[in-house]
Amino acid sequence: MSFYVTTPIYYVNAQPHLGHAYTTIAADVMARHMRQRGEDVFFLTGTDEHGEPVAQAAEREGVTPRELADRNAARFEALMPQLEVSNDFFIRTSDPRHGERVQQVMQRVHDNGHVYLGTYEGWYCPRCADFKTENEIAEGNTCPIHHIPLDREQEENWFFRLSAFQERLEALYEERPDFVVPDFRRNEAVAFVEQGLEDVSLSRPKLKWGMRLPWDPGQRMYVWFDALLNYYTALSFAREGEDLTERYWPATLHVMAKDILKFHAVIWPALLIAAGLELPRRMTIHGFLLMGEKKMSKSLGNVLDPFEVIDRFGADALRFYLFREVSFGQDGSISTAGFEARYETELANDYGNLASRVLAMVERYRAGVVPAGVPVDAVLAEDFEGALPRFRELLDRAELSQALEEAWKLVRRLNRYVEETRPWELAKDEADPERLDEVLYNLIEGLRVTTLMLVPFLPRTSERLLAALGEESLELSELGSRPGGQAVERVPQLFPKIETET
Ligand SMILES: [Zn+2]
Repeated sequence: MSFYVTTPIYYVNAQPHLGHAYTTIAADVMARHMRQRGEDVFFLTGTDEHGEPVAQAAEREGVTPRELADRNAARFEALMPQLEVSNDFFIRTSDPRHGERVQQVMQRVHDNGHVYLGTYEGWYCPRCADFKTENEIAEGNTCPIHHIPLDREQEENWFFRLSAFQERLEALYEERPDFVVPDFRRNEAVAFVEQGLEDVSLSRPKLKWGMRLPWDPGQRMYVWFDALLNYYTALSFAREGEDLTERYWPATLHVMAKDILKFHAVIWPALLIAAGLELPRRMTIHGFLLMGEKKMSKSLGNVLDPFEVIDRFGADALRFYLFREVSFGQDGSISTAGFEARYETELANDYGNLASRVLAMVERYRAGVVPAGVPVDAVLAEDFEGALPRFRELLDRAELSQALEEAWKLVRRLNRYVEETRPWELAKDEADPERLDEVLYNLIEGLRVTTLMLVPFLPRTSERLLAALGEESLELSELGSRPGGQAVERVPQLFPKIETET
């Protein structure tokens, strides 16, 4: 099965920040997990480069829009390896191959009769590059996002007949209740549709930096149309000499933050229907990370800077924290103190120490070879039973935090198993060597199975640990599916203690 996952493309006017990292890592978790399941994965991210804000910023800096886009797109592209993100392609909407494909699709929308020429008058936010509808205007005709005065603008535009898709979209949400997840975001999408759809402006004559309409080159395309189509166009040129559209379209999963739900849940499916293209299978919407807490951490100060976290603790620690601290889908507070607490108690103690202890015991008591021909311990099997299927089901629904908790329950269970069995006491006089074999085998197996589940959250750490456990495959497997007998190695502390600067 193909699994095509996307992030939104990021607007080059901004600097990469935690929000971009969050969405991108979420998509990466899904991509890595599905690769482990043997799915044919394609993972796309990239940059959105057209529109008035880019042209304005370029003008202020005395460079061309293309120069500004080139420079800022490079920052986003460099972000991917820093986050341990495994995207298969990075699309830039200023790529002429994207432009060519967008024009083909939009020409089809035109030829199918879904556009018309009309006059637009409305309140426009230059920073959003967007006209505001009545209920989106804040007090005193200001932008609710940017808090700047809106401009009253009138111009001749091409319009996309969004209103004609009202019933189609209502039917879509009726027939496919999981088109948008989680449920409460789906309800928001349905509410957008049910309040009545207005036609939307598709082009603007005043734009200087954007794609021309193929049937009216005096008008340039409103940036959202060009941007949304990236999910479709990228497949036609992501691999040199190959068109991947047949193989991966429609997209399996679009990942995004809640602020762009409307574009994706309303305009995007309508546009695809208008062009005669298949709709994506699902979109998952996450909330915002809020820097609520004022308590300062020992070493990170007050503001959780993703780049500082990565420099000091590695990308895995950031990846783990973001999905552990805030339930994916909801808004939630994060903080530097919260990061350090989770790093110390969960990554360093619960997981890192467990791995070090277990591997050290196998080395000390069994010369670094996992006992073979030993049964799975029934008390452990009981708690591992069903964990992997549940984990997979949760990720099928893009419930990342719940999936991570499912894996973490096993980490905690293994720690309890160490305390219950006390292998160091069993080793004292070797009174019961078979029992020690059994305990060590089960601990290694538990650690192996759990670490395989954690691969998408902790890609770098799990790679190291799986190598130390003598596991070469990334395939998910059940407790007891490996017979033992492999050589293992000690690992240095996977998550070293935090050094406090004095
Ligand atoms: Zn605005």
